Amino acid sequence: MAIRRILTVDNAADLAVLKQVSKDVPAVDDGLRALMDDMLETMYDAPGIGLAAVQVGEPLNVIVMDLAREGDPPAPLYFVNPKITWASEELYVYEEGCLSVPEVYDEVERPAKVKLTYLNYQGETVEEEAEGLSAVCFQHEMDHLAGVLFIDHLSRLKRDRAISKVKKARRAA
Ligand code: ZN
Repeated sequence: MAIRRILTVDNAADLAVLKQVSKDVPAVDDGLRALMDDMLETMYDAPGIGLAAVQVGEPLNVIVMDLAREGDPPAPLYFVNPKITWASEELYVYEEGCLSVPEVYDEVERPAKVKLTYLNYQGETVEEEAEGLSAVCFQHEMDHLAGVLFIDHLSRLKRDRAISKVKKARRAA
């Protein structure tokens, strides 16, 4: 396992990759599991609760998440070729952050519940329903696969402010 570099919006080359639309993977094999292991290690190291493959420079439809509370044992989740099959009309607002937009947090409104289908770490098809933080995080990561960042849901002004905040923080570091 290896910790990969996380692409961030303050770097123009990184941003161009983050804007790419990811592609489905043909199969869940050992090579893909090695990528998912790296992604999980990179996410834990950051630390974060969700990471899409494109954030480590691989535009593939692969997501890892872990929503375990601090102090609880790790509960890694792997989503390969995930799809949202249903979204509730009811909405939910949550203050989101993103490892590719460090130090920036803002409220985003999304469907409160979604139904999803994906392949797990073993390559088995799973269908389930998510709500609360799990639904927020999953939809945030699904956006990454479509080349969309959470700041793209904000006003133009807030989005520009967010990017300059990241740039300033980088220069100060
Ligand atoms: Zn993100």
